[in-house]
Parts: sequence; structure tokens; C-alpha cells
Amino acid sequence: MIDELEPPAGRADPETEQMPGPAEEPPENVTTTPLTAAQVVAQTSAAVDASTPLSHATEHTLAVAEQRTVRKNLPRPASTRVMVVANQKGGVGKTTTAVNVAAALAQHGLKVLIVDLDPQGNASTALSIEHTEGTPGAYNVLVESTPMADVVVECPQVPGLYVVPATIDLAGAEIELVSLVARETRLRKSLDAYLTAEEAADARYDYVFIDCPPSLGLLTVNALAAGREMLIPIQCEYYALEGLSQLLRTIQQIKEHLNPALGVGAIILTMFDARTRLAAGVADEVRSHFGEQVLASAIPRSVRISEAPSYGQTVLTYDPGSVGALAYLEAAAELTYQGGKSR
Ligand code: ATP
Ligand code: MG
Repeated sequence: MIDELEPPAGRADPETEQMPGPAEEPPENVTTTPLTAAQVVAQTSAAVDASTPLSHATEHTLAVAEQRTVRKNLPRPASTRVMVVANQKGGVGKTTTAVNVAAALAQHGLKVLIVDLDPQGNASTALSIEHTEGTPGAYNVLVESTPMADVVVECPQVPGLYVVPATIDLAGAEIELVSLVARETRLRKSLDAYLTAEEAADARYDYVFIDCPPSLGLLTVNALAAGREMLIPIQCEYYALEGLSQLLRTIQQIKEHLNPALGVGAIILTMFDARTRLAAGVADEVRSHFGEQVLASAIPRSVRISEAPSYGQTVLTYDPGSVGALAYLEAAAELTYQGGKSR
């Protein structure tokens, strides 16, 4: 059962909840503005009653303006970071996290690739990328050894964000891969060749996000073999931690047999509803297990986040001043500082 807590005064709507700022100090080589977007919103909200339309509009305008001024401030990693967004549990926010974190990084001057590895093609939909059956994409890369460069397309709304689309053809790939040589490492081979060529052409990618389907089949194994770090979304719900141990065991097996470089990079709490004790309890439990690996910026449950894909957009472009957009922006920034610190 979910125990409702009294919402803080003036915060009855989850859309007005404020997220915490980044946990880390930015590295020295980064030019920063004094306040982050979320901090500006938090200060504005403290000064005015956020429940009125006027104050909401003020909040929104300030947040958008602040986002514009902090753009291009995020630091580049020392080398391309390849992050696998995986959790075999369905509907926990893998795709939403992949596209929004990727868009936030690209909007701030970084070059980012999303590999859509889910036959549902949700990441491709959210980024307005053509992915009807037969469109060249991840299927061709995995099964037909098509060079990745031949299938990559740029996201129309977010310059600097590139996508390997997924089509329904991928649904058959799980079976077709079984009989192919080096079936677990086909994505790694293709991705590594593409990233090396881009770097040689002075067009190095900063981040790659691989959006996995909700299973631990050959598609996810290919992603785990290709990545260096995991980005694991955990939904703040009762069953959240069930299945996590299975995921961690799979990661351990992949480390031992296929990819010693793989590690749990970051865990992100999604669909966090600050009004419920359950969400706070799940968040506490995850933080006590995984400590600093859990990003301080939890993503709130937000209507804007769930609406954005139906317009073929990320929440960063759909409603840049919304709490959902700001939370993903904070999470993306935190990831870059975390990477800068740990690498
Ligand atoms: P699958 O396992 O099917 O690939 P997934 O883990 O990729 O799912 P998403 O598709 O990102 O999960 O999210 C599941 C649903 O929840 C979607 O309808 C999405 O719009 C919605 N959703 C995700 N994050 C939020 C959020 N913070 N607030 C509200 N709705 C959200
Ligand atoms: Mg998905």
C-alpha cells in the first residue's frame, strides 16, 4: 500500500516539485554560471506562490533562460563513454532516460549517439527518426554486418544527437543471431569500428547510449559486450528491486566472459513521486545499496515527460522549463561530473 504524505505547502502538483541540484562540484576546467537551472527555479519558487498561473509562467521563463545561458558548459569526457541503458524489467524508464539524457548532453555541446536496440523502436519514435520496417538500422548492423556509418541519422530537433534506428526487423534478430559467428560481440565490433573512424576524422563522439529491450536476450548481451558502463534506471515502485540481482549477475557473467571493462556506472531513480513514502523508501534502499553510484537527481513522475514522445520529441525540446526537463538536465550534468571524477 502507498501511504500518502502531506505534500509541502504550495507543492500539491508533482509537476511543481523541485529536484536537488548536482551533488558534485564542477571540475575546474569547466566554465560555470553561478546557479543551475533547477536552483534558479527553486529560488524563484521560494519567493513566489508557485500555484498561480503567473508565478508558474515566471518560473518557466526563468528556467528556459537559465538553460540557454548554461548551454555548452558540460565537460567532454577524456574518451568516448559508452553507456548501456538496461534493466530487464519493462517500463522502468530506460528509453525515456536514454533519449532525455542524450538530448541534454547534445544540447550542451557534446556529440552523442543513441543506439536503439529495442524492436519496439521507442527511442527512434521519441527522436522523430524514421523506423518503419526495412529502414536501415540496428538490424542490418547486427545481422548483415552493415557498417554503422551507413545507418546513423541525425536527430532533426537536436543537432549533435545521432541515432542508429531500430525497426521491428530486430524482433527476428534474437533468433537469427543464434546461428551467426561471434553472435555476442557483433555490436561491439561495429560500434568500435565506427567510433574509431569518427575519432580519426576529428569528429569524436563524447557519449554513446545503447537503449536495451526489456529482456536479457542476445540483443541486451550485445549491448553489454559493447559498453563500458551501465546506466540502470530504477523505477521508484514496490517491485523495483526484484530482478535487479539477476541483472547484476548477468553483468558479472559478461564481465568474466565477454567484457572485463564493463562496470555499473550510474543508477538513476525514475518516476519518483515525492508525495509517497513508498518512493522515498525505494530511493533510500537503492541509495543504501549502491551509494554514490545513484545519481542525486531523481527523475520525478511528470506528465510532460510522458507526453513528449507522442510529439516525436524529448522533454528537453517539448517543454524545456518543465521539472522533468530540468531533472534530466541535472542528471546529465551529474553524469558528466561523475565521469570526470572517476576516470
Ligand atoms: P520498455 O521496457 O518497454 O523498453 P522502458 O523501460 O524503456 O520500457 P519507458 O518507455 O521509458 O520505459 O517508460 C515507460 C512509460 O512510462 C512510457 O509511457 C513513458 O512515457 C512513461 N514515463 C517514463 N518516465 C516517466 C516519468 N518520469 N514520468 C511520467 N511518465 C514516465
Ligand atoms: Mg524502452
